Amino acid sequence: MLLLACSAAGCANRATNVASGPAPVEPILILVSFDGFRWDYPDRGVSPNLAALEARGVRAEGLIPAFPTKTFPNHYTMVTGLLPDHHGIVANTMWDPSFDGRFSMANRDAVQDGRWWGGEPVWVTAERHGQRTAPLFWPGSEAEIEGFSASHWLPFDGEMPNSDRVEWILNLVDRPADQRPSFLTLYFDETDIVGHNSGPDSEEILDAIAVVDSALGLLVDGLDRRGILETTNIVVVSDHGMSPTSRERVVFVDDYVDLETARIIDWNPVVALWPEEDDLVEVYESLRDAHPHVSVYWKDSIPPHFQYGSHPRIPPIIGIADDGWTISTHSFFDRVPEAADGGNHGFDHHAPDMQGIFVAAGPSFPEGVRVPAFRNVNVYLLVMEALGLPAAEGDGDFSEVDGILVD
Ligand SMILES: [Zn+2]
Repeated sequence: MLLLACSAAGCANRATNVASGPAPVEPILILVSFDGFRWDYPDRGVSPNLAALEARGVRAEGLIPAFPTKTFPNHYTMVTGLLPDHHGIVANTMWDPSFDGRFSMANRDAVQDGRWWGGEPVWVTAERHGQRTAPLFWPGSEAEIEGFSASHWLPFDGEMPNSDRVEWILNLVDRPADQRPSFLTLYFDETDIVGHNSGPDSEEILDAIAVVDSALGLLVDGLDRRGILETTNIVVVSDHGMSPTSRERVVFVDDYVDLETARIIDWNPVVALWPEEDDLVEVYESLRDAHPHVSVYWKDSIPPHFQYGSHPRIPPIIGIADDGWTISTHSFFDRVPEAADGGNHGFDHHAPDMQGIFVAAGPSFPEGVRVPAFRNVNVYLLVMEALGLPAAEGDGDFSEVDGILVD
């Protein structure tokens, strides 16, 4: 039986966790996500805290996301070691025919429903092994998965100030060693929001980079004040990059299909269509060669490099816009004058601008090392190794991240 207790300090499950587990885990690992922080943002000269972390540790030239290059699929890939096709978070917006469930990021009932979350995230394995965890605002952290919840978590609250998020983590770090979580996460999204609104090459993005960087600074300062900065692993990642979009580069789906018939589950820049059986061929044929900047596939013939198309939640017809293109409708485009005028992600994960960042420092990481870009599915392997936990069989490959951990 699982007893779930929520208070101002967060939610904790009391019954399923091992009460007296193994000795406290040292070093602890704090995984920080900067949403939509593109691979080249660290070199814009406005992120001194990230630069300091890099100087103490290791930086990858880029972090290659999984397809689709969206927030939920990629956050969950990094903590499960599975690609979206295998963990089931195949998009930010989904329909599951097996239980007629609808999923979107803002749907609390859905994000807290364990049926959506496949694989075994880091915190579940850690709790299973008697460690405590505190994945703050990490996609999946609100659900009970395989009968386990994280020891500490909060329902997502976009209004929670970044400083409060950092304080929440530091308060848990302050707990006695036998109660201190081994795996904690933080999430900051200013770079994603501003990247969408103003684009990755705007003046405004510089302020957003500085905002998330100063949140990292608060964390580093807090650990330093406690005298535990050098003995704590900090890993900063982003889920995807950002490409500039334009109102000159838009494909209007309603020019080619009847929206009622097409039954569009997800829109942009990956349009996912789930027409009734009888309409499938007609919808597919109407879209297939409709526009030179959208590639349309049956789900089972998506080109292999996407590694996408086998999960039952992926709709039968998938259209993928070229990098920097937008998929919309005339009514939406006319109603929202700022639509498509900024930036977006979700494109082919091999597009260079879809790459995110990986910067890590602490006792498990070498100092002053630069490594080539690697696939973010391998972040899972690094985190599990650093926490001394057994990694599950998955889609990652340790040989791709050779040299990122000290022996
Ligand atoms: Zn975004």
